[in-house]
Order: sequence, then C-alpha cells, then structure tokens
Amino acid sequence: MTNPLYDALFAPHEGTTTPFLYLADGRRLSHDDFQQQAGRMANALSSLGIGPGDRVAVHVQKSPEALVLYAACVMAGAVFLPLNTAYTSRELDYFVTDSGAALFVCDPSEEGALSDIADGAGAIQKTLGLGGEGSLTDLANAQSATFAAVPRSEDDLAALLYTSGTTGRSKGAMLTHKNLLSNAEALVNAWQFTERDVLLHALPIFHSHGLFVATNVMLLCGGAMIFLPKFDLETVLNRLPQATTMMGVPTFYTRLLDDQRFNRDLAAHMRLFISGSAPLLAETHRQFEARTGHRILERYGMTETSMNTSNPFDGERRAGTVGFPLPGVEVKVCDPETGAELPRAEIGVLWVRGPNVFRGYWNMPEKTREELREDGFFITGDLSLIDDDGYVHIVGRGKDLIISGGFNIYPKEIELFLDALPGVKESAVIGAPHPDLGESVIAVLVPETGATLDLADVDAVAKRDLAGFKRPRHIEVVEALPRNTMGKVQKNELRDRFAATFQ
Ligand code: ATP
Ligand code: MG
Repeated sequence: MTNPLYDALFAPHEGTTTPFLYLADGRRLSHDDFQQQAGRMANALSSLGIGPGDRVAVHVQKSPEALVLYAACVMAGAVFLPLNTAYTSRELDYFVTDSGAALFVCDPSEEGALSDIADGAGAIQKTLGLGGEGSLTDLANAQSATFAAVPRSEDDLAALLYTSGTTGRSKGAMLTHKNLLSNAEALVNAWQFTERDVLLHALPIFHSHGLFVATNVMLLCGGAMIFLPKFDLETVLNRLPQATTMMGVPTFYTRLLDDQRFNRDLAAHMRLFISGSAPLLAETHRQFEARTGHRILERYGMTETSMNTSNPFDGERRAGTVGFPLPGVEVKVCDPETGAELPRAEIGVLWVRGPNVFRGYWNMPEKTREELREDGFFITGDLSLIDDDGYVHIVGRGKDLIISGGFNIYPKEIELFLDALPGVKESAVIGAPHPDLGESVIAVLVPETGATLDLADVDAVAKRDLAGFKRPRHIEVVEALPRNTMGKVQKNELRDRFAATFQ
C-alpha cells in the first residue's frame, strides 16, 4: 500500500541534508530536519487518536512547524484543514463545527478564548505558536522520528480547504491526494522547477496559493524556500538576491514596483516571477517588464481545483490573460443559462475538468450537484473567454455581472477603460439596485498618488466612449479598494457600502 502525497512529496527527502527552508531569522532547516520533525509530529497525532479521514483544523501563524503539521497530517492519513489567521472566534466556530474537526490546533495565546469552540465541536485542542512552541510541539518532541506513513488511496481526502469567501460564505473544498499531486506535477513541469530552485515564499500558508501551489511544487522538485512570515517590502528586497523564483499575489508586484530600489539589477538573476489569486493588471505586467526585463507569468486557479491555466514558460506570456489549460486540464466556456458550449471569443462561464478538480463541497451535497457535473466538469462561476490564439481571459465573476435594464454589463470591460484614464490607478465597477433599471453601474476610482481626478471629465469621456447602458451613473473616489489578504477586491463590501446610491 502507498500514500500518494507522502510518497511523492516527503519520502524522497528522508536522509537528504540539502536546505529546504531558509527562515527570516537566518536559521536553515534541511529536508531531513523537516522530515524528522514531521515523523515526530505524525506520532504525536497518532498518540491523540488522530487517524485516517480525521480533520485537523489549524489556526496558527505561518511557521515551519505549521508546515510540519501539514506533512504529519499527510503521513497520518488525516485531512489537513488550515484556517485564515484573520478569522475571528465567531468565524472559527463555524469552520471547526462544520468540518467536525477531531483536533483543533490554535495559537497558545488564544487557547482559553477558543476552548469553548473545541469543546462544542468535540475536538481535542492543542497549541502551536509562531516560534514553534506549544502543547502540540511538547507532545511531538517526546516522540520518535520514525513513523510509517498510513496507507491512502489516490481518491482519499488529503485536505479540506475553505474558499476565500469573496462571493458569500466560505465553502469547504474536499481535495484528494490525486487532486493535489497531479497539480503539483503539472506545475513543476510547466514552470520547469528543479532542485536548484529557491522560491521566495511570502504568501500565507492557509490558502491554496502558498500551501499547494508554492509548497507542494517545492517539495516535489526538491528545491528550497525562503520562508517569510509575510510580505514585508524591506525583507523581500533584502532576500531576493538569494532566490531564483517568486510567487505572489498582484499586490506583491505593485508594492515592489512602488519602490525604486526594485530595479533591473536586483531582479537580473531571477528565473521566474509568477502571479495569481487575483487579476494582475495588464499595466502592472507592462511596468514590471519595463523595470526589470521580466515578464510576469500569470496563472489562474481556485481552491476547488488548484491551478487550471497558466501562461507559457516558453512562449508569449500575454498580459491580461491567464494563458492555456495545464496539461491534463480541459476548459470550455459555456452559456450561463443553457450550459451549451460557446464559440471562441464569446463570454460565458468557464467550466473545467481534470484530475485537479475536487471531490465536492463538504456538507453541501446540493451545491456540489449544481456545480460539479456528472461528466466531471466543474462550473467555476468565473466569466471568461478564450481568444483566437487559445489564451483564456478571466472577465470577472458571474456574481459580479451587472444586469441593467436587461443588458449584461461586464465590470472588467469598464474597469479596463477607467484604468486607462489619466490619473486613475485602479478601479472597481459594481452594480447597485436601481428603481427603474433593476441595477445600475457605480465606478469606484483610486487616483494615482498625487493626482486629483476631475469627475466631470471622467464622466464626459465615459459618455463619449461607452454605450449608454454601460456608463457609470455614479462615480466615487476612494484612497484604496478593500482587499483581503490574497489581494482580492472585496466587491461585496463595496456593494454594501453603495447599496442605497440610487434609492
Ligand atoms: P469564494 O469562492 O468563497 O467566493 P474565492 O473564489 O475568492 O472565494 P479562492 O478559491 O481563493 O476563493 O479564489 C479563486 C478565485 O480567484 C477564482 O475563481 C477567480 O475568480 C480568482 N482568481 C484566481 N486567479 C486569478 C487570476 N489570475 N485572474 C483573475 N482571477 C483570478
Ligand atoms: Mg470561489
């Protein structure tokens, strides 16, 4: 019997003394150090009675020990369930209870405050702190480093990962060994990762991007990570010379570009910059190339599927697109009403099928039936088109579509138009309830630093260049768009804020 993820990601590194993690404080952990700790942690889990299929809910700061816990869950056959560090106790209660977690690991500082949640869910509570300290570590330190990985089949669950909650309540995506492994394999090949790579890792590890895209890829290729607690500009500028590759959300790249010390010399040795989790503005892509000579490689994925499409490693990385389906992944654009496949260049909902597609939503059989078809296609809810050259463009989310007076309005189209106006740094276009039209368009603009926007001018240009039904009926200027930790614009929040505009 085998354990697919353990066999591919962890077992090959046992006894290997090459570096795996370079930490912010200068410490370094070899692959074997990591494996030894994972073995101890897996024994600790076992001693708590955690075994195959048990959910291990984890609400801890980013640390090497938190990654060790992921490895240990894989080894013990348990289901790893990382939770956003920003979640409040009310939110945690939902996740721990909904998942039926058997073990709830939290920061030592919140042990008392969260004990009711653990008790209520019937979960054992243990702690793990930023420096690796806590009752779980104490238990692990007393264990042997030898642990025989629990056999698992490729269709067994390895993780339960909740979606970001951008469009509503977070849903638990059930991810199998095959889902995660097939995607890591596709990405290592597509992006040509090898054991010589050192990835600058400043992403959170409670999300698909930092955990599965970044970490699984590096475990599979046998490379190392500069493992930083968060994106801190000074630290990133400082550590970049030791990296060969970087993965980030678009805001990482705009923040680098905002600093003149980030220049061609500093990036010259880098092999690859990758972006995802939210749309990278074409303008950022162009500025980045002008500054560094590198073309950022943008890819597209989601919690439910890990990565679906990627711009090519070799070949044209086209700004404003998310590239082509990864090998083994099929995509098609379908009519939102009928589900019929649409011709090239038409906008519809993107459907995906492949070994990466999850097994369904936890505790949500109806939602699973609606979105995961019997033929294996998953309806992503993202509006997209495939252009004549086969590049996939993400046009926005189905839930952000504005229907005004019976016309479909794609916010992205108007946002691209507004972003190109002088003095506009970025924009978000939303619909708000309107007594006559059902919904009407609101534009929220962020000015360039130091620029003052003349809204009458913006309106005049919009009147001239946009069809009447697309023209924003109300324009707001804000300092910054509301974003979550993954850099996703929180349009729900904007819709709430401006809900009464036309009433
Ligand atoms: P929820 O499903 O709970 O509303 P969410 O969809 O934001 O939250 P995630 O699974 O973290 O949760 O995000 C996946 C979504 O992120 C995709 O469906 C897509 O809308 C967006 N996304 C990811 N990468 C890109 C990209 N390169 N360009 C545009 N959008 C992207
Ligand atoms: Mg989603």
